[in-house]
Amino acid sequence: MKSTREEALILDQADQEIKQHGKTNLKCPRCGGGFAYDGNDTTYTFHCVIPGCTSITFRGL
Ligand SMILES: [Zn+2]
Repeated sequence: MKSTREEALILDQADQEIKQHGKTNLKCPRCGGGFAYDGNDTTYTFHCVIPGCTSITFRGL
């Protein structure tokens, strides 16, 4: 089982790839599902499509 830190790194990388390329080939480290965004440009949560699975929150300056 992957650690929370490892999961966060994968989500962070997927977020970066979507920002740069508009898509990512990475999948949720827990369930292998896709990702979605909630929030706005400055503060948002990048999360697995499965409720309660992995998520990472980014806060703007
Ligand atoms: Zn998941």
